This record gives sequence, structure tokens and C-alpha cells, in this order.
Amino acid sequence: MLACDTREAWIQFLEFAKKHCSVTAFGNWLAPIRVLEATDQGITLEIPNIFVKEYLLSNYAKDLVVFLPVNAKGEPSIQFVVASENPAPLIHTETSSTPATPKNTQKTGQNETSLNALYRFETFIEGPTNQFVKSAAMGVAARPGHSYNPLFIHGGVGLGKTHILHSIGHYIREHHKHLRVQSITTEGFINELVDNLRNKSVEKMKRFYRSDIDVLLVDDIQFLQNRLNFEEEFCHTFETLINQKKQIVITSDKPPSQLKLSERMIARMEWGLVAHIGIPELETRVAILQHKARNKGIEIPQNVAFYIAEHIYSNIRQLEGAINKLCAHSRLMNLAITEDLVAMALKEMLQHIPGKDVSVETILKQVASFFQVRVSDLKGTSRIKEVALPRQVAMYLACKFINGSLQSLGSVFGKTHSTLLHACKTIEKKLAENDTLRRQVSMVERQLVG
Ligand code: ADP
Ligand code: MG
Repeated sequence: MLACDTREAWIQFLEFAKKHCSVTAFGNWLAPIRVLEATDQGITLEIPNIFVKEYLLSNYAKDLVVFLPVNAKGEPSIQFVVASENPAPLIHTETSSTPATPKNTQKTGQNETSLNALYRFETFIEGPTNQFVKSAAMGVAARPGHSYNPLFIHGGVGLGKTHILHSIGHYIREHHKHLRVQSITTEGFINELVDNLRNKSVEKMKRFYRSDIDVLLVDDIQFLQNRLNFEEEFCHTFETLINQKKQIVITSDKPPSQLKLSERMIARMEWGLVAHIGIPELETRVAILQHKARNKGIEIPQNVAFYIAEHIYSNIRQLEGAINKLCAHSRLMNLAITEDLVAMALKEMLQHIPGKDVSVETILKQVASFFQVRVSDLKGTSRIKEVALPRQVAMYLACKFINGSLQSLGSVFGKTHSTLLHACKTIEKKLAENDTLRRQVSMVERQLVG
């Protein structure tokens, strides 16, 4: 989502509030608030005094949740800065009037990212592209240190990696109460190390990470790339923990082999289980959308949900942004949630549907040229590997990109619909396990959607 969306959402909130309070109240309380910063994570507001914060939160907490991004506790994510004290320490909604801790305090072991309360296994919707990761994660959470170690989860932005990571944390904290869980972001780890180097307390930090924790959850390891000294330090910590059978879970936007890290580090990360989390297919996206909408207290008609999920397909975070925006529009203008409203309210968010213009012929041609076989081979019956695999890939892509019935697609290949279905399943399974094939198929896909 764009940073300006939150700013715009704030303006929409003001318009909404204007209709729900007196002119005087609006002038006294809301008009003097200034936006200092707006990102997709939250908003920083400058207020004339602390009472404005209280007024806002006690009168509009429920409405703010609809308009603004929410924090881990499901509260509107707002930081307040009192104008007269500016630049004063930020006051968080969560910590009420307690000022935030000064940045440079020594914080060995305190970099623990608290787990997002909403990121739990129960709220993670399963589908064919994330089922494998979810079961692996549940396996690790049930027997930390004894199933797959490390568990390495990789996939694109906004597909639920952090959600799964925190779910493991919650589960372990609830079911293995004696285990100490440390959840960190790679950036956080690096910052903590820098702080401790400055304060000459590195040994204390090392001791903490190597002997005071039982489970280490590491988010976004890709940020360790090109940070040589930090990589070495991380690698030592990693090895010490693994040798003691302490569970490590890592997330990344790429598989280990594609990370620009030392061979030693890559080999370590491949020790356990490497699991890919893919883009959920349409039905799962609809289920996620409905689940999130219901949590916000809105009902989206099924046809509208399908319409949104068809047009926002590569990132679940965007799907959530869409719900927020839709919700705000429908409340502000008092309109029912329909396809027309979606088309109007979400105009800039809706993506071009890939493959809308792709035909079976183009698929056959692209696959044939990529794998260096003939189109006639793809429609033929030869079982030799060099032909059989590209043929299954072509069938998989036909199912993915073409909206025809399985029967009619099958007939193009001279196969029954069950053969086609089998081919799709086989390729989906291989894609989850085989990096090379995944790269090949995504190259063909890029050619197709051009
Ligand atoms: P990543 O870490 O991969 O960038 P996140 O874990 O931050 O992605 O997920 C982005 C948002 O999408 C989160 O709010 C998360 O709850 C939601 N999300 C992603 N996948 C699912 C899913 N399968 N079911 C429910 N919510 C999901
Ligand atoms: Mg993440």
C-alpha cells in the first residue's frame, strides 16, 4: 500500500467524524491535529495536548480501526506527539503516557519483537500453495528442536511468512511454557549488535543468544546480505543453537541458494527443511478476504469477494488494504458493497488479470521454445522425460491461465480432463520442492504475461 493511502484515510476519517460530532467539538478537538507522518504501518499525529489523544481514542477507537492500519493488538496504529514538547519522545497508544525508551539504552536481549497477536495458526487460511509450509510450521511448533531444524520459509512479499513465524512463537509459548522464545527481525538483530558493540556489551549479547534462549525466530534473513561481519556473528549464534538442538526458524524472500551469503551460511540454512510459500489461488484468496472482512465486522457478498480476489492476486497485504478502503468508502457514503463500488473505490489497486489474453497456442509455443521441444511433442504421447515434463508444464499453465473447462483444455492436448488435472497436481507439487523448475516456469510465465 502507498504511504499516501494512510494520509488519505485520515482525511476520510475526519470527514466521517465531522458528520458525527458538533461543529464546536470538531473545531476544538479534531481540527488542530496535524499529520506528521503516514506510512502503511501507521500514522504519527501531532496534538496540542494529551487530552486530544484521550478524546480521540475514547470517542473514535472503533472508527479509527476501520480507517487506519492496526497494530498487533488490533488497535489503531497511531503515535502521538504533543506539539509543545516537540521533539518530545513519542507516546504510543499502547503505552499511554509512558514515554518510549530512549533509543540508545543498552538492550541486550531486549530486541525481542513481540509477536503479533493476530498472527496465529488459527487465523492462517490454508490452500494448496501454503499447506506444506503450514504443516511444517505446526510440526516444528509441536516438537521444537526435534522435527526440522532449521525450518527455512521463503516466498514473495505479503504472502504470510511473518504470520507463520509468529504463529509458531505463539504456539510454543502456549504449549511449551518452559521454553524461551526469542523472535527477532534481521534488521533488529543487526541494530542490537551495533548498539552492543558501541556499549562494549557484545559478550553479554552473545551469551544471551547462545545460552539463554530455546527457540529463535528470525524474520527476513535477506537483510543479512552484504553485511559481512554481522553474517559471521549470526552464523556462530546459529551453529551454537543448532548444536544444542535449539529450534531455529528463518524467513526470507528467496531460497537459501539465491541469497548472497557465504557458502557456509547457505549450507547451514539448507540443513533442515526449506519450504516455499506460494501465491494463494483464487479460492484461498476469497477465503482470506472473507475471513479478514468478517473480523472487521463487514460482510462482503461472494461475487464481490471473487471480483476483488481476481484482481488483487499477488499480495495478501494488498488484499487487506482493499478491505480497509472498501469498508471506509461504504461507511462514509453509506453505500452497499457491490462490484460497482469496488471498481470505483479500488480503482488504483486492481491489477490487470494476467493471462486474460493468453491463448493455449501461445502457451504451447512458449513452453516448446523454452524447453526446446516441438509443439507437436507437447500434444503427443511420448513418455520420455525431456518431453513429458514440458508437456505437464504446458498443461499446468493452460489450467492456470485459461478460463476454459478442463474438458475443452484437455482436448487441445488430446488428453482427458483427469490427465490434465493429474498434470497440474504433479507440477504444483514439483514447484513446491524444486527450485530449478520453479525458476523455469516463472520465466515462461513472465514471457506469457509479457
Ligand atoms: P510476509 O511476511 O510474507 O511479507 P505477512 O506475514 O506480513 O507477509 O502477511 C501479510 C498479511 O497478509 C498479514 O496481515 C497476514 O495476516 C495476511 N496473510 C497472508 N497469508 C495469509 C493466510 N493464508 N491467511 C490469513 N492471512 C494471511
Ligand atoms: Mg514479513
